[in-house]
Amino acid sequence: MVKAVVGANWGDEGKGKITDMMAKEADVVIRFQGGANAGHTIVNNYGKFALHTLPSGVFYGHVTNIIGNGVALNIPLLFKEVKELTDRNVPTPHIMISDRAQIVMPYHILLDAYEEERLAGKSFGSTKSGIAPFYSDKFAKIGFQVSELFDEELLKEKVVRICELKNVLFEHLYHKEPLKPEELLETLHEYRDMVAPYVGNVSAFLDQALKEGKNILLEGQLGTMKDPDHGIYPMVTSSSTLAAYGAIGAGIAPYEIKKIVAVTKAYSSAVGAGAFVSEIFGEEADELRRRGGDGGEYGATTGRPRRMGWYDCVASRYGCRLQGATDVALTVMDVLGYLDEIPVCTGYEIDGEVTKEFPVTCKLEKAKPVFVKLPGWKCDIRGIRNYEELPENCRKYVEFIEEQIGYPITMVSNGPGRDDIIYRESAL
Ligand code: GDP
Repeated sequence: MVKAVVGANWGDEGKGKITDMMAKEADVVIRFQGGANAGHTIVNNYGKFALHTLPSGVFYGHVTNIIGNGVALNIPLLFKEVKELTDRNVPTPHIMISDRAQIVMPYHILLDAYEEERLAGKSFGSTKSGIAPFYSDKFAKIGFQVSELFDEELLKEKVVRICELKNVLFEHLYHKEPLKPEELLETLHEYRDMVAPYVGNVSAFLDQALKEGKNILLEGQLGTMKDPDHGIYPMVTSSSTLAAYGAIGAGIAPYEIKKIVAVTKAYSSAVGAGAFVSEIFGEEADELRRRGGDGGEYGATTGRPRRMGWYDCVASRYGCRLQGATDVALTVMDVLGYLDEIPVCTGYEIDGEVTKEFPVTCKLEKAKPVFVKLPGWKCDIRGIRNYEELPENCRKYVEFIEEQIGYPITMVSNGPGRDDIIYRESAL
């Protein structure tokens, strides 16, 4: 059976924690899109970790952790992350890398940085991990597939051809040092030797695993709002963040995905530029940011302070719909315990009309939030394991959101740890 854990919002919803928790029951955890531009924070018995490239199943000895073909694979970072784990006494994880995954090249990272520099104030807020140049090249059909590392003739010819092309930009647009094909070839040889023991035919492996009745977990990065088609284009990421893409980015049939857990946080946060309708500012935002997540809402990869907002039912309903949520996990509920009352965004006012349907970006820019205020519960809910034991106002908050978004909230997370979870029967 295949399950997916994906984000219903802008990312940073706590997917890492939910995946780590669900990975206990999984045989395979697979990353199917994205790259090292975002991080998943995981707290477990080994300590606190920020994973960027590795699947969140790496803390379990019984899990095969797969880098799917849809991923932007940064090879040195992958191995750096493995070393960070083993240095902290996590047993060496089982890893498999798709022979069809493509490689983030050193020039993708340079191009990302040079382009941000060139755009200056008008930048997209890229994390400069090379993700946009990587996916541009993949679809322009000039990317390097892992399998190509093992074909020396092909590699030699292609390196020369690509450097010629990239150097036009390096020299004439960005006025930087040109790339040297011999150096690039040497780097690719190093990459080949690093990945060689782990490369495999992932779709064949998964096909076999499915025939054997194994449990497979697809792990998404970011969330619906960052999807290039259905998100807040152009302030999006460059690969699809939707569960549907899990079939493509892993190499399985779409109908195999039986359970889709859309993760949504009990308040909102976003990184980078773009419309963020329920955003809050000033002291109100600072306090939520300080108290948020596990040690504050700051980027797991960049350390950037995240933009903060109240819960957005319009974005989340749309977010769950596009993910095809069979289950919703509402996370970080414990953080809201300090508030007397909690605003929740239930509609967008656009040109004088209130809508509950998430609009296209040019309309989104004009949207103003419609808030309702729910009473707070004013206590610490960490440690509670039964839904009925939550304070009444806390349950009302969960039930209000469930009714607004129209997808069943079956899990409420009330702390960063693996066991900080409350399962509930949805009323829907
Ligand atoms: P991801 O990319 O979706 O995995 O999100 P992040 O890595 O940004 O995770 C959100 C942060 O919230 C991390 O620091 C988690 O440890 C933390 N976290 C996850 N669930 C909970 C929760 O229920 N309560 C609290 N307080 N923190 C949580």
